Amino acid sequence: MRTLHINDDIANLGPFAKRMAPKLAKLNLKTIEDLLFYLPYRHDDLSVIQSISALTPGSVSTIQGTVTHIEKKYAPWRRSSIVEAVIEDASHDAITAIWYHSPYLANALTPGTQVHISGKPQLSQGKLRFLHPVWEKADSGESVHTGRLVPAYHLIGSLTQKQIRALIALALERLPHISDYLPSSPVHAGKFLSLDRAVRIFHFPPNWHEKNEAERRLKFDELFLLQLRSSITRAAQQSLSAHTISFDESGTKIFVKNFPFTLTQCQRKASWEIIKNIGESRPMNRLLEGDVGSGKTAVAAIAISNVLRAKFQSAYLAPTSILATQQFEVFCRYFDREPYTLALITQKDMRIQRGNMIKKISQAEMKKLLAKDGIDFAIGTHALLSEYVSLPRLALVIVDEQHRFGVRQRHSLLQRPQGMTPHLLSMTATPIPRSLALAVYGDLDISILDEKPSGRASITTKIILPPHRKDAYDLVRSEISKGHQAFIVCPLIDPSDRLGIKSVTQEVLRLKREHFPAHNLSLLHGRMSAREKDKVMKEFTEGDIDVLVATPVIEVGIDMPNATVIMIEAAERFGLAQLHQLRGRVGRGNHPSWCLLASETENTDALQRLSALVQSQDGFKLAELDLSMRGPGRVYGTTQTGFLDELKIAKLTDTIILKQAKEAVARLLSVDPQLSRNSAVKARLTRFEQTVHFE
Ligand code: ADP
Ligand code: MG
Repeated sequence: MRTLHINDDIANLGPFAKRMAPKLAKLNLKTIEDLLFYLPYRHDDLSVIQSISALTPGSVSTIQGTVTHIEKKYAPWRRSSIVEAVIEDASHDAITAIWYHSPYLANALTPGTQVHISGKPQLSQGKLRFLHPVWEKADSGESVHTGRLVPAYHLIGSLTQKQIRALIALALERLPHISDYLPSSPVHAGKFLSLDRAVRIFHFPPNWHEKNEAERRLKFDELFLLQLRSSITRAAQQSLSAHTISFDESGTKIFVKNFPFTLTQCQRKASWEIIKNIGESRPMNRLLEGDVGSGKTAVAAIAISNVLRAKFQSAYLAPTSILATQQFEVFCRYFDREPYTLALITQKDMRIQRGNMIKKISQAEMKKLLAKDGIDFAIGTHALLSEYVSLPRLALVIVDEQHRFGVRQRHSLLQRPQGMTPHLLSMTATPIPRSLALAVYGDLDISILDEKPSGRASITTKIILPPHRKDAYDLVRSEISKGHQAFIVCPLIDPSDRLGIKSVTQEVLRLKREHFPAHNLSLLHGRMSAREKDKVMKEFTEGDIDVLVATPVIEVGIDMPNATVIMIEAAERFGLAQLHQLRGRVGRGNHPSWCLLASETENTDALQRLSALVQSQDGFKLAELDLSMRGPGRVYGTTQTGFLDELKIAKLTDTIILKQAKEAVARLLSVDPQLSRNSAVKARLTRFEQTVHFE
């Protein structure tokens, strides 16, 4: 067999890997290296085989026994097949194991098969049973899945834990050695394992002690690379030049007076921090953090107004066309007394405003306008990054929901031919605890909006279990009868999956038929054309739609003061930060609002996680919680809010390792600032930046 290289495609591992490759691609795992560094988020101790008679509810246990009976049924209430097996062990006790959506098990576990079963037994109608346990045939040689410390990976689509474990075991076996990129001094100084040992052990640890040692090394790597990246970026920033924007105090006062509200104290403070930064000749790199509805737009507008008055240009990058359009409209109102030309640039829709005149134009007309430098402020989606969008006087770039954009995308706006770097303001509604932000974004300055504008209504959050579903629909109907509107959010199994879209489409029909026959329901999902989306959003804003059934595309920034209920289906599948963002879609006007978290899960951990949302409205607190509980419920890797995923195994509380990493970076850069003598470190950093998207 040919020796494999770590950069080879996963498919090179053999026929099984080849078959699995499309599933792995959905997790963005393409090379053997990607696979080896796809680290488990948890290990379960399945090393002790218990007798069935000694099982207790709720604690992870492994049993070994014989299948005595197996049966496949259909469970209409779950719209799923259900397989029930009875397993008997040497103690002559038996236990039932149940799997949904796995009809093939009926053929795999025929009576007489010897199996290991691992999971948490649960009490149901007075009896213990396993729900969705991990299983493995007992005679299959060295155990990868049960009977030891077993890794658990985040998965999407139909990929199973067994499949990914088998693939990783195969890759580790076929790859004799993973070379270490770190120079030997920090490895010795911190008594860290080699990268090869750490990766091997962390996937399949023989015991907890070794797992912890492997984890220590991998955490060090993560924090080392983070520090390295921010130190290098900061050093590079120091050498760049930017346009200095002088503060126009009287103009700003008039501009602020025209807002239909008075600024909060923290909005003033953040605006002032930005104004000071853009007055300097080095480019600003600032993150504006504020919970949904905290009023980030007004802060951005104040900075933009100063830039425009100084005769420079500004660009505002939004992650979706809905949001770009909405923000364009907001800015049009803010600037309707000013002599500037604002442009909306999205793939399907181009508009300009001058004073209080707004008109749609064609792409060709937009190109012409841009070519003769006729736009002062461009608002748009990724379309803003197109080649034809030239903004020669660009001095300020604002990136809304910054985690949605990759480094390269953002850089394409920041790199200006004339050698001047625009100031950058990134905005995020994911509340990042300051300590974490400093650890991760050491090269950024941070402003925080931690005070809600006054006059906001309360939001009551409730968990809706299947028996109370009807009450939830009653509540939605009663709000509509008061003239309000509602969101119902359905998760996507996989954003690229047509089935997901189909399921929302069907859900609209079902809701209409069973619960809302007399109301106007509409659908909103990411695969609709920009025009369709805009039409729906317009109808919703104008009150023509009572219930908007949507995929999580509505997650980001949409402002609908008249919406008072948001019902989130399969809420356990979302991260806390994302749920908190979704909740922020309501309670934006002055009417009391509701956030209903519908779930059919029987998993107590998941329900506990949801109850954190019921108890707390504090985005920062929830972010910390999400962080400490990282893992459970993160099945939705691709729709996560991004930031909290960036630290994969290191935790906020790893202060010792963080300190070691900082020291190692400082030592390395003091002798080799360009990493010219440490090309392996440089290569590793490049890879790290590609897999982790930084802003
Ligand atoms: P986000 O921080 O989520 O982007 P927005 O900037 O969209 O929030 O603001 C949400 C809503 O709050 C908008 O309707 C905006 O007009 C309003 N708003 C902003 N600042 C204030 C304030 N100081 N007082 C009252 N309302 C405000
Ligand atoms: Mg916003």
